Order: sequence, then C-alpha cells, then structure tokens
Amino acid sequence: MTTPPFDTVSDDDVRIVSLQLGRPARDVIGIAARCVCGAPTVVSTKPRLGDGTPFPTIYYLCHPAATASVSTLEAEGQMPALAALLEGDIGAQYQAAHDAYIGDRDGIEVVPELAGVSAGGMPTRVKCLHALVGHSLAAGAGVNPIGDIALERASWSPTVCQCPDYSDTGEAEQ
Ligand SMILES: [Zn+2]
Repeated sequence: MTTPPFDTVSDDDVRIVSLQLGRPARDVIGIAARCVCGAPTVVSTKPRLGDGTPFPTIYYLCHPAATASVSTLEAEGQMPALAALLEGDIGAQYQAAHDAYIGDRDGIEVVPELAGVSAGGMPTRVKCLHALVGHSLAAGAGVNPIGDIALERASWSPTVCQCPDYSDTGEAEQ
C-alpha cells in the first residue's frame, strides 16, 4: 500500500495496467497497491490529465479479479447495506477518509475544479465500491471504513494472486 509520493512507475507497470484496463494507460503517476505477485492492483493517475480533464480518482482499482469481485458485491446490493453503516463512528471515519483522499490528491496537484470532491460517494454516500476499495488498498486498513468492510466481504483477497499471465510475448490475451 502506498500513498503519495510514489516510486517511479516502470514501463512494465504501464504496460500491465494497459492490459488490465484494455486501453492505453495514460498519465500514470504511481502504483498505489500491488498484488502479491507484484502486478498493479491500484493505479494512480494525474489529478489533471494531459488533455486538461480533471480526474478525481487518484486510487483506481485496475486488477481484473479485484474489480470483478467488487462488481459482484455491488450486484449483491452491498452499497445500500454499507451506506446504512454511515452513522456514528463509521460516519466520522468516512468523513476523515474523504479528507485524507483529497489531501493525498492535493499533495500531487491542486485542481480547483475538484475542490471538495473525493471519490466513491464520500463523505456521505456509497456510490462506487471500486473507488472505496481502491482507497483502502492504497491507504491500508483503518483509513476508509467502508472500503475496508467491502474488501473483507469480497471474494478477492490482496494476499492471493489471481492474475492472468501478463508476460510480454506480443499478443495480449485475457
Ligand atoms: Zn498477481
């Protein structure tokens, strides 16, 4: 798990993220979390893309097995179940997670259009578990309570590699 500043991104990291996303990964500034095998799990992108577009999601879940597992949670109706937890201490922790997320991003670049905007529905709603799990994987347990619980409920685990073969042999399959 890693929050900014990030280590330099390798060409191989960008290649694998591009395979994971199914499109060329651009404006990558860091790998915020990795699979036990080393493949990227969470990619960090410039808060303002090269074409000028503001991009709020600095912790983007890119690992195919992880994203599929989180999509299953959403399909199972976990978002309203988790939103129902946003009271008392968990609600306060979620607000703090929102502030931490923006603080991490502002540490890279302050984009005025993104003022007060984090990701995933924070600080008061649950709108995208991918964004929240991405934050938990980047920041580590104890920062984003909803992302942490979603990760616990997911069939995917960051401790078990379920990666396809990303070897650089020309044709990309998967
Ligand atoms: Zn792996």
